[in-house]
Amino acid sequence: MDEKYLDNLKKCSRCGGCQAHCPLFSATGREPYVARGKVELLDHVRSGNLQWNDKLAEIFSTCLLCGSCAENCPNGVQADRLVMMCRKELVADRGLPIIKKNIFQHLLKYNGRLNAMGILLYLYQKTGVQKLVRTSKVLELMPMDLARIETLLPPVAGRSFRKTVPFLNPVDHPRLRVAYFTGCVTNLISPHVGLSVLRVLQANQVEVVIPEQYCCGVPAFASGDFATGSFLGQANVREFSRYPVDYIVTDCASCLSTWLAYPEWLESQGADQLVPKIMDINRFLVEVLDIKLNPQELGIKVTYHDPCHLKRTTGGKSAPRELLKRLSPAYEFVEMGLADRCCGSAGSFNLSHYRLSQKVVAPKVKSIEESGAGLVASACPSCLMQLNHALRNNESPVQAKHVVELVANVM
Ligand code: SF4
Ligand code: SF4
Repeated sequence: MDEKYLDNLKKCSRCGGCQAHCPLFSATGREPYVARGKVELLDHVRSGNLQWNDKLAEIFSTCLLCGSCAENCPNGVQADRLVMMCRKELVADRGLPIIKKNIFQHLLKYNGRLNAMGILLYLYQKTGVQKLVRTSKVLELMPMDLARIETLLPPVAGRSFRKTVPFLNPVDHPRLRVAYFTGCVTNLISPHVGLSVLRVLQANQVEVVIPEQYCCGVPAFASGDFATGSFLGQANVREFSRYPVDYIVTDCASCLSTWLAYPEWLESQGADQLVPKIMDINRFLVEVLDIKLNPQELGIKVTYHDPCHLKRTTGGKSAPRELLKRLSPAYEFVEMGLADRCCGSAGSFNLSHYRLSQKVVAPKVKSIEESGAGLVASACPSCLMQLNHALRNNESPVQAKHVVELVANVM
């Protein structure tokens, strides 16, 4: 492991301050899951007292990479980065679990296969097979909480977003030209979010190009498969370098944070030049376009959930809130108590650790309900899936929507 990451081991004073900020520690009370516990274990691995084994692999896979410990650590220990590098080392040492290996290496790299999977899921939901599967309870017999994980999936679109929109979306007298990185969830599951992004940008005289693109790589990087993550990142850099644009925008916090890490994780000159152009759609609408809205009164209270991958980026906390304030009086923004607490989605954490992720999201659901809002907005399609799932399970009438959907709604 690179010395710059190992420095974190020396910096940790074992003060335990991270316990108060770790959503997994709140949910489990277990020391190995908190930053201090992981640092201690890794110290033993480095000094040869411990060897990587199944139990350690399970402990290091149990981290949301939410960065809350790092943000609040008095000694600047970046435990989330350290965990990622441990996962990389584990993959080099022991390989990937078979399911992840197949998904990352035989699905994520191929857009055609991803689109085909989207169609299969659509048919599964639309032809009555899903109903049959649920009624028969056959998934209850499967391992890994498959029956519950299956319920995470919202209605899937029959055609992917990028298959329904052209490469070039022109406007008369464009102010700016942007490339849109859609992310996999918007592309395959939530095309309405992509349509909202297009609508808002075009209404503000922004020409939008949607280049050929791949998964940003976050599921692979977060699981330690840097080879697949780098393959995908380099493909994205190559495709986006082909079009001269003023900015690259994305509606996905996880994709944004992965793009921001490309210069560190990819050995590619192009990444350095492209990355300064990437921007979260909320920040782009507020800071670059400074959009003006004049909405009619709807009287709907809306609160906001901070995606972990957005809140520490420039404007990541302020821009979505500023947009929500500009939606008044259609939507009245109210802050919730636990706005910046991780929702437990964490890329694919809610798939690999379903029950624990539901424990993590429980206080968030309570906080949303206590805010009195009828809607919770956010800026990450994965968080929205997790929040809608948890709200449904809690029989809450509150719905989770992307901020840009609300903006498009008042235009
Ligand atoms: S990671 Fe930071 S907060 Fe946690 S024990 Fe170490 S020094 Fe203290
Ligand atoms: S990154 Fe989040 S989940 Fe992981 S140890 Fe830190 S606070 Fe806990």
